Amino acid sequence: MVTGDESRKATFECPQCGHVQSIEDFINLNLDATRAYKDCLGRYVTNFGCEFTVDSEAGLTDSVRIVVDRNGNEFKVFNFI
Ligand SMILES: [Zn+2]
Repeated sequence: MVTGDESRKATFECPQCGHVQSIEDFINLNLDATRAYKDCLGRYVTNFGCEFTVDSEAGLTDSVRIVVDRNGNEFKVFNFI
């Protein structure tokens, strides 16, 4: 199968529970795809046991990356796999 959009296959690891999730996972669940590298999927599904988000005060760990966009804005994202 060729989707023509490899970025959907990019995967990110939750620094708290280690869950590996892809942008496609979020799209398939009709979630905001831009949260795939900011929120654990556990925030959106039940019985997951993890609700990690980089937006929380505790969100900065060694496993969270700081990236800077072209406008110089810093934001936190999950580690890329
Ligand atoms: Zn998690």
